[in-house]
Amino acid sequence: MKEEIKKLKSYVPEEPVAAVKEKYGLDRLVRLSANENPFGTSPKVKEAVVNWTFSESNRYPDGYATKLRQAVSERLGLPEEQLVFGVGLDEILELLSRTFLEKGDEILVADPTFSEYALHAQIEGARVIKVPVKPTDGHYDFERALTEISSKTKLIWLCNPNNPTGVYERSSQIAAFIKQVPATCLVLIDEAYIEYVTDEKPATSLDLLNDYDNVAVLRTFSKVYGLANYRVGYIAMAPKLAEYMQTVRLPYNLNSVAQVAAEAALADQTFVAASVAKTVEGRQYLEEFLTNKQIKHFHSQANFVYLKYPAALELAQKLLENGYQVRTGLQLDWLRITIGELADVKAICALIDEDLN
Ligand SMILES: *Cc1c(COP(=O)(O)O)cnc(C)c1O
Repeated sequence: MKEEIKKLKSYVPEEPVAAVKEKYGLDRLVRLSANENPFGTSPKVKEAVVNWTFSESNRYPDGYATKLRQAVSERLGLPEEQLVFGVGLDEILELLSRTFLEKGDEILVADPTFSEYALHAQIEGARVIKVPVKPTDGHYDFERALTEISSKTKLIWLCNPNNPTGVYERSSQIAAFIKQVPATCLVLIDEAYIEYVTDEKPATSLDLLNDYDNVAVLRTFSKVYGLANYRVGYIAMAPKLAEYMQTVRLPYNLNSVAQVAAEAALADQTFVAASVAKTVEGRQYLEEFLTNKQIKHFHSQANFVYLKYPAALELAQKLLENGYQVRTGLQLDWLRITIGELADVKAICALIDEDLN
């Protein structure tokens, strides 16, 4: 077996809500630990899923996700052959490492950032170079990143807004960075939370695809589209690179129900806009509260806020016992809280306030 794997730890998935409820004797548990859409899923998705032709169950799904591909291509204004779909963005992350990394290669990631970028690189025997975010405001250290690029650097991961910090980098900043990156490095811009950005409109790096073959943009249906359970994500990249990915990808990765669900979710932009509006309201409330209480946090442009708290684990436990599950274990003394209903955000602030006194 691969030696590298022996040194790695597997991803700890979320426990099912029912199991956590039972463990803590809770009637109501609000899961704010996985950045899912707490406002649910578009009713249009339910319609699409219920109306899906069950009699096709014995047939393999459309391996090219043709209709979904057309819909995404139209929405983003990109040629269809630039898109590769995965079983969640997770599969795309895995595919990228599997396709582009060899033993001894290097990748660049921010620290902290989404842990799966590093995991898959390590499985391929690549070395992970971590570029710490700026401690004061959590911004990506572009200058430092440039100095870390070597002839072995193959992938550069930029999560924007970044998970877990929520910090957003302006598209002009990213463009200026890309300009200085050698064409031999593929820059991967993970826009899993891009819909939540309010500081810049439109907020995306998709335009860079027109000018650079070594830039790719990643998106998912798991967050604002409320489809985490269906597992649909995709990458937009140069056609030649997309072709390599298609070769490595499993032929029937996306089942038909997931495909029709994603199509329906994409079509319902009213649901997306409503989710964003409610999230932004809650985010503002939480950030103002944290600022007033002088609790260190980064300015978030995602559907979560990352905060530093002296007794973070104890606070998380207190929140859990009151029906709010938040994310611990990312960095010592830091918590990540997904923005839920405003009433729940207010209840969380009241619990933190109580804890402070
Ligand atoms: C949630 C998340 C993903 C994975 O999303 P799935 O489509 O559910 O696999 C990828 N990148 C980031 C930054 C995420 O937060």
